[in-house]
Amino acid sequence: MQQVLAGKVGLVFGVANKRSIAWAIAKAWAAAGARLIFNYQGERLKENVEELVAEFGEKTPLFPCDVSRDEEIGAFFQNVRTQTDRVDLLLHSIAFAPREALEGDFISTTREAFRIAHEVSAYSLVALAREAAPLMTEGGSIIAMTYYGSEKVVPHYNVMGVAKASLEASARYLAYDLGPKNIRVNCISAGPVQTLAARGISGFTSMLKHYQERAPLKRSCDPAELGAAGVFLASDGAAAITGQVIYVDGGYQIMGM
Ligand code: NAP
Repeated sequence: MQQVLAGKVGLVFGVANKRSIAWAIAKAWAAAGARLIFNYQGERLKENVEELVAEFGEKTPLFPCDVSRDEEIGAFFQNVRTQTDRVDLLLHSIAFAPREALEGDFISTTREAFRIAHEVSAYSLVALAREAAPLMTEGGSIIAMTYYGSEKVVPHYNVMGVAKASLEASARYLAYDLGPKNIRVNCISAGPVQTLAARGISGFTSMLKHYQERAPLKRSCDPAELGAAGVFLASDGAAAITGQVIYVDGGYQIMGM
């Protein structure tokens, strides 16, 4: 791959395992020349992520960060400052909602499930952008992963769809705030991909099948294609693109029927 991100430093949030979308985008960013720093959520995942990132050299930094805790976000960025005084890229590939909220009817969503889903999946983008922006001294690109359930009803996606709507709107407001600093903020709306998070959504397999039947390209997307879209949005090729939701979904989003 052409080294379009040579010399760039990127922060990657959301690698849980090798199927994670964050991992696909991290691999593509690294292949395009970026140097990366990773988070992991809690000791449970540390070893997993450590093993994966060793692929980029043993010294690839990774630090703990549960995005629902302000003190962990603060500590993460202090750790980042020990490694670099400039950051160019940030990937937000994080979402969570209590399992029961993704099974029944949306109307049954509890106050607590609503709060957790929004805090982890949407507010965290604002909190991370606020910490990253002062380090983006030469401009930057922030990318968040989203899904079509933000704009249309996807049965079972429930409160996560509402949280994704909040994430996409947050990306637009952040794009406005950070535009004068030449920091761009965009979302990639991925079609269904088999990952750990996807397994939590009931009826996920039938979602995939639905895309194979209805999407113009007769399929969803594969992780490498999300990686390539991530490189594009991070690169100078996307220098005038901000506040957008880019669909990498086999074209499904254009269909009315
Ligand atoms: P994944 O591999 O399970 O990634 C989700 C990540 O979020 C995990 O690393 C998870 O860590 C992390 N996370 C959850 N709560 C967190 C917290 N409090 N602090 C820090 N990290 C936390 O699944 P994925 O499918 O790649 O999901 C990545 C993003 O893509 C999500 O925003 C998802 O909504 C979006 N997306 C996925 C699809 C799809 O079909 N898979 C489609 C469109 C968009 P733990 O494992 O420790 O919880």
